[in-house]
Amino acid sequence: MKNQVDILILGAGASGLMLGSLLKGKDFLIIDNNPKIGAKILISGGGRCNITNGNVKPNNFVGEQRFVRNVIKRFDQHALLAWLAERELEPIVRKDHQYFCKSSAKELVYVFQKEISSRNIQLNTNIENIKKMGNGFEVLTSKGKIKAKKVVVATGGLSFPKLGATSIGYDIAKSFGHEVTTLSAGLVGFTVQPEQFFFKSLSGVATEVKITVGEKEINGSLLFAHKGISGPAVLDASLYWQKGKIEIDFMPTLNVKALKSSKKNVSNVLGLATRVAKTFLEKLNITDKPCNKLSSDEWLKIESFKAYSFAPAGTFGYSKAEVTKGGVMLDDIDASSMMSSKVDGLYFLGEVLDVTGELGGYNFQWAFSSAYVCAKGLE
Ligand SMILES: Cc1cc2nc3c(=O)[nH]c(=O)nc-3n(C[C@H](O)[C@H](O)[C@H](O)COP(=O)(O)OP(=O)(O)OC[C@H]3O[C@@H](n4cnc5c(N)ncnc54)[C@H](O)[C@@H]3O)c2cc1C
Repeated sequence: MKNQVDILILGAGASGLMLGSLLKGKDFLIIDNNPKIGAKILISGGGRCNITNGNVKPNNFVGEQRFVRNVIKRFDQHALLAWLAERELEPIVRKDHQYFCKSSAKELVYVFQKEISSRNIQLNTNIENIKKMGNGFEVLTSKGKIKAKKVVVATGGLSFPKLGATSIGYDIAKSFGHEVTTLSAGLVGFTVQPEQFFFKSLSGVATEVKITVGEKEINGSLLFAHKGISGPAVLDASLYWQKGKIEIDFMPTLNVKALKSSKKNVSNVLGLATRVAKTFLEKLNITDKPCNKLSSDEWLKIESFKAYSFAPAGTFGYSKAEVTKGGVMLDDIDASSMMSSKVDGLYFLGEVLDVTGELGGYNFQWAFSSAYVCAKGLE
């Protein structure tokens, strides 16, 4: 094991690997507790990795907007796609401008494997502690001590602990006097209260909804799950939810006025899968019958599913969450280099920072953009 290096990168995830790829000619080492690099990349996007999005704006992120804009603009989705194309990775666009690997997330990991010599990567090594030593640092790992002039914290968040996630990045930040905002599971499903336990009978069914969380409105698909609700719209909603009520419009296209004289059975016209419609009608104690036979009261009851308000019991937690909300406060990070303004030579990248992207490739874009800015800062 190398025990002295100029730049020590903690974490061989998306941001650490991009940084390593951009540090050509420099003396650096990446350490990670996993037996392979890019563990999260490999399982991301259903195994195909949603690398970025054709439409990246600061408001796709929860985090200080000016900081996000300043970082993203230096290496945006176009720059990323061009960089990947030079390395023969041409992602394909799927729905909602999302760029995915053609066949497997391995394509992206392979790019990093080609860019970074294996001599610069040390796996199966747990990072345990870090101390400032003169002008540099000493990092304690499960395999011994490593001295470094500069340390880059690219250790990600708390989600998916089975893939190596630990709190080390936040611990390091705090030990150097950085503030860490409240952390919680993000891009994750909601558990529900007993009144919503009837959702369980719809487990596996998806439906188009509009979810309102505070000021934020999210349109998309909701998936009924065994323990609550999930699916893209719910995952995005989790980014804006702390506690309290959310409102779901289960029938965003319903126009009651136009239906009142219809002779069709109500379960067929609500814009819901029949199974969902029938479950909702049963819940409301309404027999399925032609629309023109429904009373005004019954229509009112049906419309309650257009503004179905309830307080989620919680979330599915870090074991299922795609990201961690919150992180190292941006106030003490220099957006032009990603360096700490408290400790010279200490840098933070990617998810460990207090920036979280919506679903759609934004989190990898953030990891890659922040890595690029850091690489420039290290020049
Ligand atoms: C199931 C899933 C699917 C996802 N899909 C997408 C997607 O399609 N598109 C998208 O944009 N985002 C997606 N994300 C989010 C994305 O993976 C992360 O935001 C991104 O990987 C963050 O990059 P990072 O470099 O900051 O951290 P990570 O990629 O998490 O890398 C951090 C690395 O540090 C290592 N580490 C942590 N603690 C220690 C320690 N103590 N010692 C040694 N090593 C340590 C970890 O093992 C890890 O390898 C997904 C996440 C999950 C969980």
